Amino acid sequence: MNMNYIAGEWLAGTHAAPNINPSNTADVVGEFARAEAAEAEKAIAAAYDAFPGWSRSSIQLRHDILKKVGDEILARKDELGRLLSREEGKTLPEGIGEVVRASQIFQFFAGETLRMAGDKLASVRPGVDIEITREPVGVIGLITPWNFPIAIPAWKIAPALAYGNTVVFKPAELVPGSAHALSEIIVRAGVPAGVFNLVMGRGSVVGEALLNSPKVSAISFTGSVATGRKVAQACIASDPMKKMQLEMGGKNPLVVLDDADLKVAVECAVNGAFFSTGQRCTASSRLIVTSGIHDRFVDAVTERMKSLVVDDALKSGTQIGPVVDQNQLDQDLKYIRIGQDEGATLAAGGELLNRETPGFYLAPALFTNVDNRMRIAQEEIFGPVATVTRARDYEEALEIANDTQFGLSAGICTTSLKHASHFKRNSEAGMVMVNLPTAGVDYHVPFGGRKGSSYGPREQGRYAEEFYTTVKTAYTFDGNEPYVPKTRASE
Ligand code: ADP
Repeated sequence: MNMNYIAGEWLAGTHAAPNINPSNTADVVGEFARAEAAEAEKAIAAAYDAFPGWSRSSIQLRHDILKKVGDEILARKDELGRLLSREEGKTLPEGIGEVVRASQIFQFFAGETLRMAGDKLASVRPGVDIEITREPVGVIGLITPWNFPIAIPAWKIAPALAYGNTVVFKPAELVPGSAHALSEIIVRAGVPAGVFNLVMGRGSVVGEALLNSPKVSAISFTGSVATGRKVAQACIASDPMKKMQLEMGGKNPLVVLDDADLKVAVECAVNGAFFSTGQRCTASSRLIVTSGIHDRFVDAVTERMKSLVVDDALKSGTQIGPVVDQNQLDQDLKYIRIGQDEGATLAAGGELLNRETPGFYLAPALFTNVDNRMRIAQEEIFGPVATVTRARDYEEALEIANDTQFGLSAGICTTSLKHASHFKRNSEAGMVMVNLPTAGVDYHVPFGGRKGSSYGPREQGRYAEEFYTTVKTAYTFDGNEPYVPKTRASE
């Protein structure tokens, strides 16, 4: 497994690093390659050389390869889901669900290869025709995070290849196992040499090599705001400038109104805030609750939290797996201290848990009496930590929901059509959910946010073509005089 895939060959990495199971730190999932910049350069050169051929390749070929990838992922969902859960720490059903999702994404984009369309318009000049077509962009560098080890790579790699681009894929250091397995499947499906490359390694080494290479035309990045900003600066500084697509953090509000169905609201909150250990950029980390239901809601959520099973991700019955690693756990604990220092009330959870195996187990934490100006309500924690802020009424709840630097997802629990419609229209988020958790999206529709959460075109669904293609406008004058039918002329 100490291998990168570069220029059509599996090559041993310069270094190797252990991949540790966060549910059991004594369990080493494997040793995986850590590349140096030179290996990234080699992959970029291969992708650059492969681009002219692949960009003109038959759409049937692209369709068949992507479909094959989707088929194999699905056929191996249990094994790949287990690997994913073992290295990332989400529960086995979540791991398998994510693998199925990756398969669906490849199937979707297999279909999209056959549906690429353009526009044909009349010109303002007589005798001239205009065609607007989409063409691939070039070599695309894909930089992915650890929290969705197979779905996020899938939703970048599949459209990149479908629309005729070549790829250098740099997965997150913490989850090389899923990236490696996915890459093996892509290679087996028959991508020509150089079209797809896997380079595992550090962001500051492999990631920066992608950012600094003039041969890379575009970067699709998902990760933290701080790194996203660096990526953006590097894309602008590069010559020529690179196209970019950045998916970064979230601090997603879930508004709960007095007229909400309490059971629905509690499930939305607990699922959105704590499932997948709260390690989703769409997690409902801010619960904004109107006064009439506030106390009942807090009581019901804390009661429900008592029954959450936090344990080894691979154990059956586990509902919440461990935090991904020591760094993330330190960050979660730091914010729990910050919340207490800021004067919020830790109403439930927040303590480390001992389980059979040594792992990063944290009891989901709920803060109440949270002012939206507090750091725990403004900064992304990326763990199983949620805040409850009391609002007077719907109007104040909406104001608080929008009072954030982020704008990825926002939810509302209400039985009022009036408030649901108003919220959908006025929420400053890229995705809005009514009576649903802020996390949990479909794969055939656009994903992305506003404000500090995202930059550039949307991901997923057919909207993905905006980033993975570039538009060409072609004008044709064919030299013909305007045609007037003879029968008419002689009338
Ligand atoms: P996370 O909290 O998800 O680890 P990061 O933004 O640190 O967020 O990482 C997301 C991805 O960005 C990872 O693949 C990481 O290796 C990569 N990365 C980190 N630093 C850089 C950098 N300076 N340049 C390019 N990529 C980077």
